[in-house]
Formats: sequence, structure tokens, C-alpha cells
Amino acid sequence: MKASPVLEWLDALEEQHGRPRRLPPRSALDWILWENAAYLVPDARRRKAYAALDEATGLRPAGILGLSRERLRELAALGGMMPERRVEKLLSIAETVNDAFGGDLDSALELPLAKARRAVKKFPGIGDPGADKILLFTGTHALPALDSNGLRVLVRLGLAAEAKSYSTTYRSGTAALAPHAELGCKWLMRAHDLLRAHGQSLCKHKAPVCAACSLADDCPSAS
Ligand code: SF4
Repeated sequence: MKASPVLEWLDALEEQHGRPRRLPPRSALDWILWENAAYLVPDARRRKAYAALDEATGLRPAGILGLSRERLRELAALGGMMPERRVEKLLSIAETVNDAFGGDLDSALELPLAKARRAVKKFPGIGDPGADKILLFTGTHALPALDSNGLRVLVRLGLAAEAKSYSTTYRSGTAALAPHAELGCKWLMRAHDLLRAHGQSLCKHKAPVCAACSLADDCPSAS
């Protein structure tokens, strides 16, 4: 294996998959609502649930708090199972933005990294991977970020070590990208999106389609 194959492998993935379609969220609150608009559903359904929430609330705390619980439940039901829990989460998110951040969560992202990370982790469903993603995709901190699909790809390629806990495996995955963090947010976003696309389409959880994978010749897990 070459010393640092990441750059080359990402180029190969881009050639294979094209530039992945960017997800819709832009601000920190957008990302938090994206994560909480749906649960265990495919991207297409999450997009629908998020778009309906956007239309009904403008993705603003006042918009969420101004809706009846019935209407919030209808919106939450678009995102899959356990809609009641999502209603509570949406209300709690809106209240936290108002009460803890004076209605302006984005300004908290400009704080030093540890404080910015703590700020976004106040919200439901946002652990370290979610915080990294928000800080990266808002362009405020050039941090490696991976979703579970991208992390699986790095493990299979031998760039990250699988551990008993997801958080340890995750740290190993982000450490594999960290030497390239100086390339900046755009490169790290591209890495996140390409690895995610590859994990979703070919390097799937149960049945990776190695015969169609452009990285198969270099991959120690190819079957
Ligand atoms: S060869 Fe198979 S296991 Fe390796 S990255 Fe490609 S799809 Fe995943």
C-alpha cells in the first residue's frame, strides 16, 4: 500500500460516483433539524421530511414554537417511526436556541473549537460525529468528519481500525483524514461526501459490491 493513498483514492471515487449531491442544510440549526427531522430512513425520505419542516417553520425557533403539537406531529410523522419523540426534540431544539443562544446559534460556532463543539452537542442526536459534521459543513472549523458509511469504507480499506466502540473506531477514521485537514473545509467536505456515497452505493454494510469497486485492487477487504 502507498504511504498516503487517500488523495488518489478519493479521486478514483469521484471518477466512479461523480460529485455527490450536497445535502440541503446550511446553518448549524439547519443541520440539527436535518438530523432530528427523521429517524432511520433513506436520504430521500429525510429530504422530504426536512423540506416539509422548512416550509412550515422556516427552520426558525419561532416557526417551530408557533405550530400546534398536532401539526408538529404530522411533520414528524413524515420522518418515520416514533414521531412523538421527534415532536419533543423539535420543541426542545427551538427552546434551547432561544434560551441558551439568544436565538442565534451560528455565532456560537465562531467560538474556539472546544466551546463550539460543546455548544452544538447540547442538542438531541448530536454527538462527536454530528458536531464534527456541523462545524465542518458550516465552514467554521476544518475538521475531518465521517458518517457511518464513510467510516465503514475507511475500515475496509485498512485506513481505520475497527474497535469495540463506535467512538473509538470513529476517532481512528478521522485520524486517517487529519493529515490532509490543511487542505481545508472544501476538501474535507468532499472526502466526507465521497466516502459516504461509496458506502451507500457499493461498499454496503451487508453485501459490498467489490466487483464494481474502483478501489478493489488496493483494498485488503475486497471479495
Ligand atoms: S473493494 Fe469492496 S470492501 Fe473494498 S472498498 Fe471496494 S466495495 Fe468496499
